[in-house]
Amino acid sequence: MDNLANQILTSKRPFVIAGPCSVETEEQTHTIVDQLANEGKVQLIRAGIWKPRTRPDSFEGIGEKGLPWLKEACTQANLPFAVEVANTKHAEIALKEGANVLWIGARTTVNPFAVQEIADALKGVKIPVMIKNPMNPDLELWMGALERMYAVGITKLAAIHRGFSDAYDKRYRNKPNWSMPIHLKREWTGMEVINDPSHIVGRRDGLLEVAQSAMNFGLDGLMIETHHDPDKAWSDAKQQVTPRRLKEMIDSIEFKQSLENMRPDEKLFDLRRAVDHLDDQLLDILQERFSVIDQIGAHKREHNLTVFQSDRWKDVMDSRTEKGVKKHLSEKFMKELLYCIHEESVKRQERQLREADPIKK
Ligand code: PEP
Ligand code: MN
Repeated sequence: MDNLANQILTSKRPFVIAGPCSVETEEQTHTIVDQLANEGKVQLIRAGIWKPRTRPDSFEGIGEKGLPWLKEACTQANLPFAVEVANTKHAEIALKEGANVLWIGARTTVNPFAVQEIADALKGVKIPVMIKNPMNPDLELWMGALERMYAVGITKLAAIHRGFSDAYDKRYRNKPNWSMPIHLKREWTGMEVINDPSHIVGRRDGLLEVAQSAMNFGLDGLMIETHHDPDKAWSDAKQQVTPRRLKEMIDSIEFKQSLENMRPDEKLFDLRRAVDHLDDQLLDILQERFSVIDQIGAHKREHNLTVFQSDRWKDVMDSRTEKGVKKHLSEKFMKELLYCIHEESVKRQERQLREADPIKK
C-alpha cells in the first residue's frame, strides 16, 4: 500500500491537517487558509462543504459553491485540500472542482452501501482517500470501508481516529479507543492513522492532551479544526482553535521517534532480547498447562463428568485475579487473560469428548 503522507505530501512528521469545520464564506475561507499557511505547520487543508448534522435545523454546509473558494485559497497558499464526501454526487463534484484528497465521515463509514457507492464512483481515479472510524467501535466496519476503496484501485489510503459515540462518558464528545487504531495498524501493515482530537474532545481544552496521547501511541498525524474566529464558527464553534493556537499546540507536542526503519540502540536491543526470552518461557508454560488440561479432559471423559464446572471456574478466576493484582497486574487484564485461557481449555476438552464419542462427531 502507498503511504499517503509520504507520497502526496511531505515525509515531515507529524502530518498536520487543519482547517475549518465548514466553509462559510469566501472571505472566511481565505482568511483561515492564509493564516494557516503563514503559521507554517499544516500540510493539508480540511474543510467541510456538505455537513452531516444531527438535527436538520442546523447549518448543513454551504454546498458546492464553496469549492471554488476553497480551491482558490489553497492554490494561492500552495497547499492541497481535502473535503468530506458522503455520496456519489459529492464525490463527483469534489473531483470536478479539484479536491486533492477526499475523506469519508464517521456517519458514512457505518454504511457499507454508501461506502461502496462512493468507491464505485472513484474507480480508476487516483485520489487519496481518508476514512474516519465509524460512530461505533467496530474495527471490521472501519477496515471494510478501507478495503472497499482499495478494491477499486485507491491505494493512497489513511484512516482517521475520531473517537466513538458513548452515551455515558461525558468527558468526550466521542470517546477515544486507542487499542482500535493500533489494532488496525497491526492488521494492515503500513496503514497510517491520523488522530482527530477536535471531534474526540468536542471542546478546546483537552485537545492538546489527546493529541499528545495520539503521538505517544505512534499515530501518524493530526487533523485539527481551525477557525480565525472560533466562537463565531457556524458549526462546531466550541472545539475550533485559531491558526496561532494550532501552531502553539504543535510546537508544544513532544514527538516520539518511531523505531520503524531505524536500528534500535543497544539498550533497547538487550531489553527486547530479554522479552523474547520471557515470551519463550511463557509459551513453554502454556504448552505444559494445556497438556495438563488434556489429562484432566481425559479423566473427566473416563468418569463421565461435564467439561465446565462453575464452582471450580469461579475459584480459579478469583484466586488468580487476586494474585495478579498483588503483582501489579490490573484486574481487567487478569480477567481477560483468564477468560482467554479458560475458553481455550474448555474447547480442547470438549473436542476431546467429541473425538472419543463417534456419534457426536
Ligand atoms: C468533520 O470532520 O467535520 C466531521 C463531520 O467529522 P466526523 O465525521 O468525525 O463526525
Ligand atoms: Mn466538525
